[in-house]
Amino acid sequence: MAIRIYNTLSRKKDELKPLEPNKISMYVCGPTVYDYFHVGNARPFVVYDAFRRYLTYRGFEVKYVMNLTDVDDKIIKKANEQGVSASEIAEKYTQAFFEDIEKLGIKKADYYPRATESIPGMIKLIEILVDKGIAYVVDGDVFYEVAKFKDYGKLSGKNIEDLKSGARIEVDERKKSPLDFALWKVAKPGEPYWESPWGKGRPGWHIECSVMSMSYLGETIDIHAGGSDLIFPHHENEIAQSEGATGKPFARYWMHNGFLNIEGEKMSKSLGNFFTAREIMKKYHPAVIRMFFLLKHYRSPINFSEERIREAQQALQRISTAMENIKLALNEAGAKKIEKNGELSEAIQHLKQQAIDELDDDFNTAGALASIFDLVREANLILNKGALAGTDLYDLSQIKKTIEEFDQFLGILSYSESKESSVAEAPLIELLIDVRKKLREAKQWALADEIRDQLLELGIELKDRPDKTTWHRRLKS
Ligand code: AMP
Ligand code: ZN
Repeated sequence: MAIRIYNTLSRKKDELKPLEPNKISMYVCGPTVYDYFHVGNARPFVVYDAFRRYLTYRGFEVKYVMNLTDVDDKIIKKANEQGVSASEIAEKYTQAFFEDIEKLGIKKADYYPRATESIPGMIKLIEILVDKGIAYVVDGDVFYEVAKFKDYGKLSGKNIEDLKSGARIEVDERKKSPLDFALWKVAKPGEPYWESPWGKGRPGWHIECSVMSMSYLGETIDIHAGGSDLIFPHHENEIAQSEGATGKPFARYWMHNGFLNIEGEKMSKSLGNFFTAREIMKKYHPAVIRMFFLLKHYRSPINFSEERIREAQQALQRISTAMENIKLALNEAGAKKIEKNGELSEAIQHLKQQAIDELDDDFNTAGALASIFDLVREANLILNKGALAGTDLYDLSQIKKTIEEFDQFLGILSYSESKESSVAEAPLIELLIDVRKKLREAKQWALADEIRDQLLELGIELKDRPDKTTWHRRLKS
């Protein structure tokens, strides 16, 4: 089955057909580095990381770029408040961003271009727009003339006339239309600036992404992505600038993730209703946050609450516990016995395919995880049988392999790796089982029971069978 993604531009699910066979260029709007990012910001970082890795898993060679907006009103404001330079603020939070995304298990992008390193390209693009008569200069500011781009509104579905009548955009008498937006802003005292043909100033936010996308990935790219708050005006303006200058399509597929809401409102810095990813990661393993996002389709809104996070943790725990128990069962059986029975049960094959079909259909991680939980259920059924036959062992090994394979893009198994591995604990537990057996032989029932109960408290359950005592990690319902 082909991969299909919902394209904001066409307003339907389109088959993903890259410009160059098997190669995909993808640009994701990154953070404005003036603070630690919040859990809402983490959503696009995590879901597009997973999507990018899924594309790699499906055989595409992906070139992935995420920009850093390191010059911006908010950065300048914070710098002035703290009496430091804007670049110091940007540097501090750029480092924090890298630390946090690494913790979140996000694979490094191929490039993280910083806006301040691409200023000459921005000046060049603005010059082209001015030369073409699409942009105009007023007292050192340069504005984009929206009326000159006939396709304006094609991404957001907005129409220029409606926009004008509903415009609440700040009135600047020097603009030809309230919809016109700044490409270059004249420097105000105390602000960082660069020299340009229009005098000292700095770029507008939208031009940064047009230029960084085109210079790192080319004039036309496959996928451009970000949160749905960016559809208008940011992405609409990026299209107007880029296509206005090149006459070529800027991005062929536009992906937008839904909001992370808190009490019905978008989590955002300006509303103050946020938790930083950092503080949440102090309480919960980062893989839990990944799971929290992946349990929902990326376009659906998510309500943030600790209860939901704990649910994600439990869901992850179920997968993790099953994986541990599979490892133990396989370890105990030894590799040879497993290889002999190389016939995969149809149910497992079917569930794997089902997960892939869900992911191919607009990256439905929620659907794929439902199939993964079915795989976990299959594994638990087999594990509960106790004495395992050859086919069962083979099925267990295949369930483990499938889940590990999917983890190439889900990135959630680091959760169990972080815990002490049962496999490493195994010799110690075997030793305790042996001691308990000897106690029972000596009719020291109370002590023997104490060992069993204490182990249970540690999450390790013993099962006395006629021939021997086995153990596994307790399954939480
Ligand atoms: P910013 O640093 O505000 O430019 O945002 C970085 C990324 O986070 C952008 O792709 C935004 O669209 C996205 N974003 C911001 N707030 C939320 C939210 N509450 N839920 C989902 N995505 C968000
Ligand atoms: Zn952007």
